Amino acid sequence: MNILIFGPPGSGKSTHSRRIVEKYGLEYIASGDIIRAEINKGSALGLEMKKYIEKGELLPDTVINTLVLSKLRRKRENFIIDGYPRTAEQVLALENFLYDHGIKIDLAIDIFISKEESITRISGRRICKNCGAVYHIKYNPPKVSGKCDICGGEVAQRDDDRPEIVSRRYDIYINNMEPIIKFYKKQGVYVQINGHGGIEEVWERIRPLLDYIWNRERKRKEFR
Ligand SMILES: [Zn+2]
Repeated sequence: MNILIFGPPGSGKSTHSRRIVEKYGLEYIASGDIIRAEINKGSALGLEMKKYIEKGELLPDTVINTLVLSKLRRKRENFIIDGYPRTAEQVLALENFLYDHGIKIDLAIDIFISKEESITRISGRRICKNCGAVYHIKYNPPKVSGKCDICGGEVAQRDDDRPEIVSRRYDIYINNMEPIIKFYKKQGVYVQINGHGGIEEVWERIRPLLDYIWNRERKRKEFR
């Protein structure tokens, strides 16, 4: 079972990806994690990428393609890709790769939330500068304002979680996704999920789809 998962900032796609990974034993390939790892390594490529991110801009396609496809090269089937592809160029690179290796995408899940919801969810987020614990001023505030429950460190907003940056990230996202959604619709694998509501509610909209694909693929294998 090979899956793509999309969603604007705050859609909860990473949370749901992790559930999918746990339930179906898929490999989790998250472009964000791969990029962060490269930045933390402090490589020349990482430093270059950091500049783009700080400006709230998208990274060059060639860089992302290289990073993500090198992961796929190691794990050919049973994966979920989070945050990729995001441009027409990236779709092309991924499709060429899949075609060359005789792999297909079974499902492209798009978790949709409105811009207002995206800003509410992300701009309320606060992160401990010391241990990385995540809070939300509305849904999950620290007991003492500005202080981490776990380690007592300073809890603050990340630069790219500010409302004006989130708003920009959302617009860029919607704009870039248009041709990609069109492409996967044409392939007959695209499904949009309503991402409003609680995590459990959204999960119950996603799970039946995955069960269906999972059973279909299993039967196919038994038949062979
Ligand atoms: Zn902390």
